[in-house]
Order: sequence, then C-alpha cells, then structure tokens
Amino acid sequence: MSEPVYLDYAASTPVDPQVADAMDACLRDPDAMANAAATHWAGRAAAARAQPAREQVAQLIGARAGEIVWTSGATEADNLALVGAARFQQQRGRHIITALTEHPAILESCRSLQAEGFQVSYLSPNGAGLVEPESVAAALREDTVLVSLAHVNNELGVIHDIAAVGAICRTHGALLHVDAAQSAGRESIDVKAQQIDLLSLSAHKMYGPKGIGALFLDAERCRRVSPLLHGGGQERGLRPGTLPVHQVVGMGMAAELARARLASDPPAILALRRRLEAGLLALPDVQLNGSPEQRSCHIVNVRVGGVEGESLRLGLRRFALSSGSACAAESGEPSPVLRSLGIADHLALSSLRISLGRGSTAAEVDALVAAVDATSQRLRALAPA
Ligand SMILES: *Cc1c(COP(=O)(O)O)cnc(C)c1O
Repeated sequence: MSEPVYLDYAASTPVDPQVADAMDACLRDPDAMANAAATHWAGRAAAARAQPAREQVAQLIGARAGEIVWTSGATEADNLALVGAARFQQQRGRHIITALTEHPAILESCRSLQAEGFQVSYLSPNGAGLVEPESVAAALREDTVLVSLAHVNNELGVIHDIAAVGAICRTHGALLHVDAAQSAGRESIDVKAQQIDLLSLSAHKMYGPKGIGALFLDAERCRRVSPLLHGGGQERGLRPGTLPVHQVVGMGMAAELARARLASDPPAILALRRRLEAGLLALPDVQLNGSPEQRSCHIVNVRVGGVEGESLRLGLRRFALSSGSACAAESGEPSPVLRSLGIADHLALSSLRISLGRGSTAAEVDALVAAVDATSQRLRALAPA
C-alpha cells in the first residue's frame, strides 16, 4: 500500500455526506436565503430553517436550544468564553485558572487577559498529562472567577475528570469553561450533570463544515458575557453578524449524526487505536505520551527514541499526521504540551500525534506501524545515537 494516508482527524475531519447534502439543500432553498434577523416573512423562513440546528447541537451536550450561541469555530468560542466571561465578571474578581496543556485558543486568550490586568494560574499536568481536580481546588482563590479546562486534550487525547472539576467550581462559585472540540461525538457530554457553565464546540472536528462552532452558556449561571464583536443584536447581542444559515444547518446535522453514532463510532475507533498502540509500542524505543488509560478513542501520541524528528517526519511523509502539535509544528520548537509533561526536548521533537476517525482502517494503521518501524530502523542505522 503506497497511497497517501490521512491520520490527522484531531486536526480536522471530512464533511459527512449527509452534512454536505443538508448544507447543499439549504444553499439551494429559496426559502432559506434571507437574513434571519429580518422580521418579514422571508427572514422568519430563514430563521426557522436554522432553529432545529440549535436543538440538535443542544441535545448533543444536554443543553437547551436557547443556551447555544453560534460562532465561527472553537477558537472564537474559546475567546468569547474566556475574554467575554472574564471581562463581564471582573467586578467579582480578576483571577483565572487554566492548564499549561490547553489549546493556543485558550492560552493566547489568557495572555491577552493578563495584558488587561487579569491574573492567570497555569496549572502543570501530572506525568500522565492530566490536571488533577485537587490541583484546581488548590489553585482557587477568593478572586477566582473562571476555570478553563479541555475535556479531551488535543495533543495527547487524555480525558479530564470534568464532573469532579465542575463540582469543585460550583462549591467555590467560579464559572467552569470546557473546550470540548475534541470530545464532542467521542465522549458523552452532559453540561448539567458535569456542572459546566460554558462549553466550546467546533463543527469541523465532528464531520461538519469548517467556519462554524458554538458556545454553550448556562442559562442560570452565565446568562451574559461581554461580546467581542459589536454590531447588530444577533445571538442575544453576544455574537452579532448575519446568521450563516447553511453553516448552522451543517453543524446541526453533524451534531445529530454524532449523537446517533455515539454508541457505535467510538468503540470502532477505539479498536483501531488499540491495534495501533499495540503495534507501535511493540517497536524498539517507542513510548506512549500521556495516560495509557484515561484517554479518548481517537488520539495516540508516541515518542520515538534514537531518531531525529525532522528525518522521521520526512520518512513518514506519505502519512498526514501531526508532530506533537499541529500548531507548534511549524515553529520547529518542541511542543509546549509535551514539555509540560517533563518530556526531554529531543524526544518531544521526535513525537508523533496520530489521530483516527470514521474513515480509518486496519490496513492504514498497519501500514503506519510498518513505516515507523522501517524508518526508525533506517535512521538509527545511519546515525547511531
Ligand atoms: C481544533 C481545536 C480548536 C480550534 O477549533 P476551530 O474550530 O478550528 O477554531 C480549539 N480547541 C481544541 C481543543 C481544538 O482541538
């Protein structure tokens, strides 16, 4: 097998054909063309076309339709959650808690808040890449207004115990924001049971289109945040701009499919992940990054010892996969997430993040294992450590 192989589903997923059909039908529907904010018959028709999508997304996470705000993706949802909630709550306090392992959309939002005078505690993960609920509890201060923690980490695939963190935050009174871009459709999410106040979603991480996402805001606990954009009053004034009805319809369909397949998709992908892990970890000097147990079905992150990262990637260029972090990859710097686990720079640089999805096959997994084996053996023979 020498065709190109896609193993980067944590970076983006293909649009499901049913999602593409729903979007196409919407784009071609004259009844859906109007500005959904307009009060005439055509505007109402467009708004009615978009409404079921709010229900579909809400149902995936155990929320109500009125608690969903559309955004351009999880990056914007993260920015709106952090910057919007922090600014809105600042009379109560100016301290925020997050983790060193978070996505840049979280970390950079926090940096910009620091420039506004907010204080941010960046928690270190344990050796398995997990932030323990106890360390959140220990970092809470009287002036803490917001805690932000990913459900599933996008580089390691490890799963945080969100319900435990939710209970701690509820007792204290701080809001809890969860980035669920990687967990939606893979782990079950119930914002009420897990006591989550704000939650970010991205359509293109769950077989929907790029350019659309959502922020959940709990109706009782977090009715308002300070908007980042200023304009018309759409999305209760929290996110103005003309509703992209076809995008919204696409995300709604993706959410519905994700929910329908929650019992079948993750176990099938998990079986492939187990096969992949068994193959890779049987190779000499290949080790898993992050917790072996508390992890999502779709991500494997391994370090390959005794080889140079750049040469390893070159040898594996037939495979679309990510080296440590999609976002840090271009800088040539070791992934800050792997560094925060205490992994040495040279091993962080020769780490691979492989992520599986609905289209993945056993043949692809086996081909990657064989290629990592062949490439690492060849490189070690050329330049013994
Ligand atoms: C992909 C991702 C994002 C960014 O989502 P976009 O919709 O591409 O903006 C944010 N957080 C996590 C954890 C992600 O995996």
